[in-house]
Amino acid sequence: MKKKRYSPDMPVAVWTGRDPQEGKAVDSLTVIFRTIGCYWSRKSGCTMCGYFNDAADEPPSEDNLLSQLDHALEKMVTGTSLLKIFTSGSFLDEREVSKEVRNAMMERIGKTGSIKKVMAETRPEFVNEKILGTILDILEKYDIKFEVAIGLETSSDTIRKDCINKGFTFNDFTRASEIASKMGVSTKAYLLLKPPFLSEKTAIEDALVSISDAAPYATTISLNLTNIQKGTLVEELYDRRDYRPPWLWSAVFVLRTAKEKFPGLTLVSDPVAAGTKRGPHNCRECDRDVAQALRDFSITQDIEALSWLDCECYSLWEKVVELEDYAFGSFLVK
Ligand code: SF4
Ligand SMILES: [Zn+2]
Repeated sequence: MKKKRYSPDMPVAVWTGRDPQEGKAVDSLTVIFRTIGCYWSRKSGCTMCGYFNDAADEPPSEDNLLSQLDHALEKMVTGTSLLKIFTSGSFLDEREVSKEVRNAMMERIGKTGSIKKVMAETRPEFVNEKILGTILDILEKYDIKFEVAIGLETSSDTIRKDCINKGFTFNDFTRASEIASKMGVSTKAYLLLKPPFLSEKTAIEDALVSISDAAPYATTISLNLTNIQKGTLVEELYDRRDYRPPWLWSAVFVLRTAKEKFPGLTLVSDPVAAGTKRGPHNCRECDRDVAQALRDFSITQDIEALSWLDCECYSLWEKVVELEDYAFGSFLVK
């Protein structure tokens, strides 16, 4: 696919936001670095992931990566205490970000003086004592906590392999989480609501089982609602009318049910592209309000944020959940 032009000194994206941390909402800064991208996407790739579109054509230099961090930190608002790092791959993969650059980044982050926690996304195979140790050696000087964020997607090895092609197992995730936990590093797990080839009902059941299975290994679980990304297998299925992104009602149901079961677990969801055809959606009329309620719940952790919602399409969604299993893989409502 043809890539957009980019500057190697600029991150793919950077934005400010609010995130729940230890029972209260804090200001956060999110940055997506442009690295050479995920090794797994070059080797095989996950069915829903279009992040390879954001990878650099040439490996960025150390200076490029540090300039990307500087640009991101410039956007930080006063009092920001959480920094979330993504690379469209794995921040802990040294082919993407070398140890030297990673250490230099941690020093620069420490010197900001306001960051209290750094979260970095990575596949689980890169989580080990040695890498975490070098990061903690620096962050602890500045009294900053570290969190690894892992795209577990589901606790089912069958769904992760056959529907997502993720290339790792639930055991790989738990091993990473246990190593992290021993070192005082917390784990955030990303789950995928509605991988391809699942009906709406199976997807809901899979998300609920996955939250229960992952809860002992994660302090935060983020429910990612599948959206259609360019150049992916999911896009091909969508173009053939063989896939519909999840209903927002499904996310509401999953989060409400899970929060009742695990009141102490932080559950979040930021429905990307909500209300569009290529993103999670209901009937169009209520999409905006329901997506906003999901975001409000994510910040407040208050189930009431999801309780007042109503729309005529709710009963339609209930019928879809009831009947879609009988449609042999076709979706019933666009
Ligand atoms: S979802 Fe993660 S592991 Fe899979 S291809 Fe994308 S970046 Fe790589
Ligand atoms: Zn509606």
